Order: sequence, then structure tokens, then C-alpha cells
Amino acid sequence: MSLSRRLGKLESEVRKLHAPPGWMPPRWNWDEEFDRWVRQLNIVLDLLVDETLMPPVIDYQIARLEELIHLLRMGPDSDRLKQENLAEYRRWPAVLRILFERVPQDLRARVATHEALLGNATGTPWANRWLQSMVRLRSRIPLDLTPETMRAIIDVYLGSREMIDTLHEICDTCGLSRPHHKAPPYSEWGQFPTSQPGEPFRIILPEFFTCCPHCEAADWMWEHRTPEKDYAWRDLAVDELDHGE
Ligand SMILES: [Zn+2]
Repeated sequence: MSLSRRLGKLESEVRKLHAPPGWMPPRWNWDEEFDRWVRQLNIVLDLLVDETLMPPVIDYQIARLEELIHLLRMGPDSDRLKQENLAEYRRWPAVLRILFERVPQDLRARVATHEALLGNATGTPWANRWLQSMVRLRSRIPLDLTPETMRAIIDVYLGSREMIDTLHEICDTCGLSRPHHKAPPYSEWGQFPTSQPGEPFRIILPEFFTCCPHCEAADWMWEHRTPEKDYAWRDLAVDELDHGE
């Protein structure tokens, strides 16, 4: 089915939400909301240029819009709607655009894939995981991130997948997420160098990045623990995602 037909079908779903017993959060204009999703998706599709790259991105974003519609259709009394955060769902168009705007042109074909975005039943694909952490405000892609830095991070995801830990590091200063290197088995730790004499003793285990590849700050937090603290970067993320269109 073509994109316009798929969107047309969704738009008719959206129209049904206006009718009782449909429910809308106060002050939501669905026409505007729907237009915003389509507008942002089209920016990403323009960045991809090549039409053969578009289907996984379209599938991905339409699935997110369908989830939002499904959530709204359940109405204000649904337990799930109370648990879910509507603001979170509304950030999908912006995070997808921000990611693709910063991926260098020659790497976009490697990111706009089923493997990176949609994956299979086993585990969350890397690009999907990154976007999820952004909509949840657990990380941020700084707007001035350079293509070189983006390339360095994507190279890890594409080239060193087996060495990536399940947990991610988030820069305390700018909010950028970076993959964490799996620790080698304890039996191999003796092979790694140790800190210099006079410094606190530590074994120097392999790392993908010794500091933030964007702002060079050394301090970071595990992604799942970022909600514990108020970070200045989170305010920036809210501005960029909720008001920056
Ligand atoms: Zn940083």
C-alpha cells in the first residue's frame, strides 16, 4: 500500500476519535497533530532521497502513530493510558527527524533499515532503542552534534555489535547516549593494563569512548538511572522535542 493510502487510512481512524464515545486530551487538535506527524516524516523521507530506503522508516513511524491512536481510542479511563505518557508518544516525529538530520548522508542507508529500526522478536534494535530513550527524556542528541561524532557512534553500533553492553552511558553534561563496552570475563582481566603508580588502582578495561564524544565531559550516568536526577540537558530536550517544530 502506498504511503498516501496508508496515511489516508490512518486519517480516517483519527476522524473516528472525534465522535463519541471517543476521547481526546483537552486542547488537542487532531488535524494539527496528524499534519505534524506527516510533515516530520516527510522531512526524514526527503533526507533519505532514495525511495528504496523509505519503507522501513515509514513502517516504523506509522506503527508509532497507530500506537498513539490505539491508546487514545481506549479512552481516559484506561489503565494503560494513565500509565503511558501521551507527551512521550507525541515526541516520536521529532526524535526520528533529529536522528536522521544528524546521520551523515552516506550512513543513512545503514540506519534506515528493518534491522536497525524494527528488528526481530529478539531484543530491541539499536536505533529503536536510541529513539526510545530520547522520547522518554533519558537521553538527547545535541543539535550541534557533528556528523563525525555521529559517525563514530554509529560505527560502534554497526561494527562492534557483539561487544556492546545492554546498558548505555548518558553524558551528564549534554545528554548524548553512547554504547558501553561489555566487560571481558574476569579470567581475562589480568591481560589489561592498570592505572599509573600513584593513581588509585584500577584495571583499564576496553571502552568505546573514554569521555563524551561530543562535549568531552567525563561524567556520565547509566541510562536507566537518569530519571533519578534533574539534568540541564533534559530541559533542553523538552524544548527541542515539545516546542522545537
Ligand atoms: Zn557530552
